Amino acid sequence: MFFLMQGDYVWLDLKTGREFVVPVGAVVKLCDSGQIQVLDDEGREHWIFPQNATNIKPMHPTSIHGVEDMIRLGDLNEAGILRNLLIRYNEHVIYTYTGSILVAVNPYQLLPIYTPDQIRLYTNRKIGEMPPHIFAIADNCYFNMQRNNKDQCCIISGESGAGKTESTKLILQFLAAISGQHSWIEQQVLEATPILEAFGNAKTIRNDNSSRFGKYIDIHFNKRGAIEGAKIEQYLLEKSRVCRQAADERNYHIFYCMLKGMGPEMKAKLGLGLARDYCYLTAGNCTECDGRDDLADYSSILSAMKVLMFSETENVEISKLLAAILHMGNLRFEARTYDNLDACVVVRSPDLVTAASLMEVCLDIFSSSNSIDGGESPQISLLTLCFIMQGIYGRLFVWIVDKINAAIYRPPSCESSVIRRSIGLLDIFGFENFIVNSFEQLCINFANENLQQFFVRHVFKLEQEEYNLEDINWQHIEFTDNQEALDMIANKPMNIISLIDEESKFPKGTDATMLYKLNSQHKLNTNYIPPKNSYETQFGIQHFAGVVHYESRGFLEKNRDSLHTDIIQLVHSSKNKFIKQIFQADVAMGVETRKRSPTLSSQFKRSLEMLMRTLSVCQPFFVRCIKPNEFKKPLLFDRELCIRQLRYSGMMETIRIRRAGYPIRYSFAEFVDRYRVLMPGIKPAHIQDDLKGTCQQIVSARLGKQEDWQIGKTKIFLKDHHDMQLEIERDKAI
Ligand code: ADP
Ligand code: MG
Repeated sequence: MFFLMQGDYVWLDLKTGREFVVPVGAVVKLCDSGQIQVLDDEGREHWIFPQNATNIKPMHPTSIHGVEDMIRLGDLNEAGILRNLLIRYNEHVIYTYTGSILVAVNPYQLLPIYTPDQIRLYTNRKIGEMPPHIFAIADNCYFNMQRNNKDQCCIISGESGAGKTESTKLILQFLAAISGQHSWIEQQVLEATPILEAFGNAKTIRNDNSSRFGKYIDIHFNKRGAIEGAKIEQYLLEKSRVCRQAADERNYHIFYCMLKGMGPEMKAKLGLGLARDYCYLTAGNCTECDGRDDLADYSSILSAMKVLMFSETENVEISKLLAAILHMGNLRFEARTYDNLDACVVVRSPDLVTAASLMEVCLDIFSSSNSIDGGESPQISLLTLCFIMQGIYGRLFVWIVDKINAAIYRPPSCESSVIRRSIGLLDIFGFENFIVNSFEQLCINFANENLQQFFVRHVFKLEQEEYNLEDINWQHIEFTDNQEALDMIANKPMNIISLIDEESKFPKGTDATMLYKLNSQHKLNTNYIPPKNSYETQFGIQHFAGVVHYESRGFLEKNRDSLHTDIIQLVHSSKNKFIKQIFQADVAMGVETRKRSPTLSSQFKRSLEMLMRTLSVCQPFFVRCIKPNEFKKPLLFDRELCIRQLRYSGMMETIRIRRAGYPIRYSFAEFVDRYRVLMPGIKPAHIQDDLKGTCQQIVSARLGKQEDWQIGKTKIFLKDHHDMQLEIERDKAI
């Protein structure tokens, strides 16, 4: 037992045996006869008998007050990481580095750290020169893009509500500010966000402004470093929300904003009332969202749409379509008997009349027995209606993103294509594990497996391969690789996605036959958890972030994502040009082609592959967002929740490798040319005979003994802090 005094800091292991519990920090309050009293980080007191205190350990000085960069932690374990984030969080310091990877803990309150002054403070600084900040990451992306003349990307990950979208917006805001033109295009790029959020975000139980789609924003810069344009790629909007919401959740913001903000005249024209009047807006029993101002948001949305060149007519057409969706959601069906056959028909109602007139279709299309009328039971008709409305909203969303891109995307001119550079920001749905998980969750988690693999490849695999190739002194670091899970889901022959796809194309395929095939193919794979018995319809996958059980019922239907023949029929019979426009591609296709059109998962897989290809040619930055509690509350730090996120994101191993590793590397020629200003008389690289020797000469003169840097066969390897030191000296020298 070590000697303890009042005021000493210790680690206290409460030995709960729970999976996500780690030792808690504590301070000694009292040392009494044979007993000590400690107060832990959670404010709880404990009495401890030192003679049998195997559960108490001294704390390393770096853990007492915390460090800005976790690679400097003396207590390199989960407890150390957690406490470091906790004590900073309690002081409203939400950002912490792990090398150049930024960890951001959601503060759930507005902090005064995003002002124009802060932007200036972080402009043109090296990572580590200033306290950790999202602006520092943005600044480094920008600086690296110019210094290395290479495209950059920023991968922002985390669970729903962790702060990805806010981080993305902050980076955008910073880049727009430092590109410094205050130009129209910058404003357009910024104003794309409120439109996307209006149509693609909703209040969920996890997040009042939850993005229900993924996005990759690629921002293009000209050779002077000014924003020249941008392009937005969107992934997999959650369409089911249009018709159904879980308890305490809402439909997409735009509906509520429209009903609050639209003028009475226009509302009368569209036959609109209040949010509570519509079935599609009330399924979650929640039409208001604390902290959101639907009325004010509506005017921001409209002004953003102006900036992005939506015409007045287009706005009216969008509103008409949204209104039609709401009216349609109110339709009622009735079972009737015709000629001794049971059928179900839509009940004639004002909603029906208004919807039909807004969509410019004749009423018959709804009441005739072959369209929305499914002919079986009322549920089927409602379901069909749902599919149609989801289909319409989905196409509307795609059209809106295309419209935004038409305003902000400038194809590279011949001259600028060579010199144009870009920074891409990836804000994609985080890992999801609900009580019931369906096909959408599989797609989302599949995307996250890809991103995790990208991270693992970058941070662990490529890094260590390079050390070996360059033959530098290096001790291999173990890490958790999710490649096998990814292979099972999407790469190996007979992978899960391909089996689902095959079954979706097979006319007789059902969810049950699909599940059977998944089981027989994968039951022996350790990453697959087959159903417990033959009645069970769920299968599980061991993802990098934990096991998720998927409900197989409904998979094929969702994957086929077939536009109901009814939609096409409706589009054909509609006289509304806008509806025809958003369905242009589908209508043009023809029946047979449409049947063969790619399934949702194959489309998604393809767009993910394209994304991964784009990312792989960029220099990546990583931002790991952490959600501190499930209650959207400030200053509440749920230790187990945080440990789970840190563990699954591989934070421990990341710190270990960043601490041991050399994140900065230059070829000998690059290094000599960049830093020869630091030593008089050194010639440029192209007229040097012994580049390696010259590097050695510069580096040992400026950085001292070879402890923290290494010289390989073709490259020199540095730590972040040395890179910063060299850069600062270089700035002074030139
Ligand atoms: P995600 O995109 O990861 O699901 P969001 O970025 O939408 O999460 O964040 C959820 C909510 O958390 C935001 O609506 C906001 O209230 C709060 N939040 C996130 N990041 C910050 C931040 N940096 N400062 C203040 N509040 C934040
Ligand atoms: Mg989001």
